[in-house]
Formats: sequence, structure tokens, C-alpha cells
Amino acid sequence: MRPDATSTDVLELRDLTVDYDGVRAVDRVSLRVRRGEVVALLGPSGSGKSTLLHTVAGFLPPTRGEVWLKGRRVATPERAEPPEGRDVAVVFQSYALWPHMSALDTVAYPIRRKGSSRRAARDEALELLDRLHIAHLADRRPAELSGGEQQRVGLARALARQASLYLFDEPTAHLDTHVRGVFLDELVVRREASGGGGLYATHDAEEALGLADRVALLDAGRLVQLGTPQQLYSEPVDLWAARLTGPASVLEASVRDARDGRCSVIIDGTVVTVEAPADTPVRDAVPLLVRPGWARLGGELTGRLQSVRFRGPHCDYSVETASGNVLIREPGPPRHAAGTDVRWTLKRTWPMIPASRYQASDKDVDVS
Ligand code: ADP
Ligand code: MG
Repeated sequence: MRPDATSTDVLELRDLTVDYDGVRAVDRVSLRVRRGEVVALLGPSGSGKSTLLHTVAGFLPPTRGEVWLKGRRVATPERAEPPEGRDVAVVFQSYALWPHMSALDTVAYPIRRKGSSRRAARDEALELLDRLHIAHLADRRPAELSGGEQQRVGLARALARQASLYLFDEPTAHLDTHVRGVFLDELVVRREASGGGGLYATHDAEEALGLADRVALLDAGRLVQLGTPQQLYSEPVDLWAARLTGPASVLEASVRDARDGRCSVIIDGTVVTVEAPADTPVRDAVPLLVRPGWARLGGELTGRLQSVRFRGPHCDYSVETASGNVLIREPGPPRHAAGTDVRWTLKRTWPMIPASRYQASDKDVDVS
């Protein structure tokens, strides 16, 4: 047991490594999930998300390192507590529903176990099924449900449980957009009410940034960046991280006198002053990240519209410039046609420099 000072962590991974027969799937990951916090594990397929979750749940032992749950060490390479001994609710890609139980009983069961009356458990379960649009299937067993419907029953059951840690492995992969939104909203509300923590694996950056308090970016089993969604979006550690977390243009430009959070950037002979970190290198040919909202149409710079895409609430303009192509996103319908010369300006940038200062570290991320 550890002292109370650390009891705000529902999960702590210490230098966790997990191998399959010599194949390294998780590589020295250290990570904490605090009470009431949802951490998204974001990474492409094969980056080790499922392996990490299975190790936390107790289905796989660590090769090296330790897993701690609520200040209790539950797994080392020598000794791992079985899944039943861990206060963890799991929603994996395979739903693992009880074959003999109806959808309603499946969801009511964990509510009954919390001590609710049969009636109250039924009502709450029915309400959850209704939220996920499957109340009309309440009496069916898994064999009588489609894959997507089974998935929703599994999600309702997980939401109904009161665990100190929830593990989700791409739970919305087979849901349509609307049900997915309902589920994610419900997850946020319940998490706030219960104080449980969550570890949520997804390869979908928009989902990860939209739902998590912090995002852990995984590449080939390694934690490459850990931070708030805003940090990952605005201050990616490298180009790979930038591309994985949203639309990313890179301009190569000369930077002059960076200070006070601003710097002068020279693009095609014209100087613009932009928001940039204080340690932006002052030299020629600096690769500068530009997110779609960081550049605007209209201004002192010139370019040619390569393409215009109408996306409903906004339009994406791809502008060919002397320093590279830049994607500009503006609200409303198209204002210019592809092929025309346009003026534009840059408001903000983030230098893409190999920098150890941005290394993933659980210690220097302050979420309080
Ligand atoms: P993700 O969930 O991010 O897609 P996984 O954790 O499933 O990633 O896989 C991580 C790595 O481990 C991949 O290289 C994958 O091929 C490998 N892997 C996963 N499961 C097994 C297994 N049962 N046996 C051997 N290698 C595996
Ligand atoms: Mg997976």
C-alpha cells in the first residue's frame, strides 16, 4: 500500500513494457489517470493501445514495469492480480455479453449490485437503453441482436457500472455518428458524477481531442506526447504528432527576432508578425506548423487558390504560396474559386523543431 498522498491517481503505469513472444507492443510507458479524469490513448492501428488496456485489466502480464490501481500495486512481471480483483469496468471491441441474459437484465445487473432495488435498477437500465436507442430491444438476448446493437448493450452496461476506472477500447467504432455523440455525452456526465477515471483508446483524433482531459499519443508502443487536447493540437512534438492530431500545413520560412510570444516571419519577401513561442529559432528555412484557423484570407501575403472544398459550416481553401501550401479554414460558403489569386495572412505558428523540451512527461503537465 502507498500513502494517501497519491490516492488521487486511479491508475498509474510505471515504465510499463509488454511483449508478445519477443514482439514489443508497449514500450516503457509511464502514465497516470487521476480521479474523475479521462485520458485518451490516441494512436494508429498497431501502436499498442489494446495491449496496454489488456494489461491494465489483468488479461496480460507486464514484461517489465508495474501497474498500480488506486495506490495499490496490482501487477508486476512476477505477480499479477486476476481481472476480478481489480475495480475496473471494461468495454472492449468484443462485447462479451452474457448469452442467457436479456439486454435489460444485462444493464440492470450492475445497478442491482450497487444496491438499488429491482424496480429502480430496471428503470435506470431502461433509461440507458433508451438513450442509446435500443429500449425496444430490451427483452432480446445477444444472439437476437446485431453487432452494433450488442455493442450498445455493452456500452450501456459499462455506463451502468460504478467502477473506479473505466477502460474503453475503440468502443464507438461501429456506432453511427448520432449514437456515438449520445454515448460520449453520457460518458462525460457519468464520469463527472461518479468520480471514476477513464482510459479511452481510439485512433480517431477528433474523438480523442473532444472527449479527453488529457491525450496520450502512442507510436509503436511508445508514449510520444502527453498533454491536454489543446497542447497536442497547438504544440505537437513533431510532424508525425501534428498530422495525427488534425490538419497540418508546414511552411518553410525565415524567422526574424522572436520575442514576447511573437516573431517576424518572411514569406516571399513580405514580413508578417505572428504569434509564436519565445524559443522559435531565428534563422532561415524554419519549418512552421500552420493549423487551418491560424491563417486567414485577406492580408499582405499573396498566393493562388489550389482548391476550395465546401464542408457545410466552413470552407477549406488550399493556398499555394512561395513557402509551401497552406490550408485555410473559414466559416460560410466559398468566397473564391479555385485557380484565382488571393491575399492571405498568418496569425500564429508553431515551429516544427526536434526539441527534447517537448518530450512526453507526466510530471510537467499541470491539469489542475
Ligand atoms: P492497437 O490496439 O493500437 O491497434 P495492439 O495492442 O493490438 O495495437 O498491437 C500492438 C502490437 O502488438 C502490434 O504490432 C500487433 O501486431 C502486436 N500484437 C497484438 N496482439 C498480439 C498477439 N496476440 N500476439 C502477437 N503480437 C500481437
Ligand atoms: Mg486495438
